[in-house]
Amino acid sequence: MTTANSKAQCFVCNKEKNTYNCKGCSNEFCFPHLTKHRQRIETQLEEIINDHDQFRQTIIQQKQNPHNSCLIEQINQWETNAIEKIQQTAQQSRETVMKLRRKLIDDVKKNFIELSEKLKEICQENESNEIDLNHFQLKLTQITKELFTLPSISIEGDSQKFINKISVHSVVDSYQPKHPTTNTATISKKSILTQFQFKPLTI
Ligand SMILES: [Zn+2]
Ligand SMILES: [Zn+2]
Repeated sequence: MTTANSKAQCFVCNKEKNTYNCKGCSNEFCFPHLTKHRQRIETQLEEIINDHDQFRQTIIQQKQNPHNSCLIEQINQWETNAIEKIQQTAQQSRETVMKLRRKLIDDVKKNFIELSEKLKEICQENESNEIDLNHFQLKLTQITKELFTLPSISIEGDSQKFINKISVHSVVDSYQPKHPTTNTATISKKSILTQFQFKPLTI
């Protein structure tokens, strides 16, 4: 690294002394400054070795925990949001259906109670005739029909995208997977909420 030289000017203290030439930077140094110069180089080397070891450790960690990458985090977040969206929509839809059915059944029940009251009155008075009987028979048939032919409630899929599709792309050739070139995941409302109708209520 260094070669002894005759008297020359030291690069650090600028004094005429016996100097040594550093082949790395081509400067002349007196002995004390040469020592310091070498120490500085050794310190730098240690730092580089340290950085190198840390980087090796980082590679090992990355390889051991491929799930911790920022991209995987983004996909996980998308997945969580999509599931939440689906669950919310399902819950809202269930509540709407139950509310509608409760209302329809309540209406039929109300008509039935009115009819029961009238029937009770006639029985108490003990004055029923064929006209009354026909009337009740007709009413009862009507109410029964209402109950069994409740307006149908249907569920339809939305043609618009409910959840945005994500896909993974890479421009680096060597990073492209051997089999699929693009990984895609799609969830749409249509695939979850298939169209169907409720059957009439049977008791
Ligand atoms: Zn010097
Ligand atoms: Zn040097």
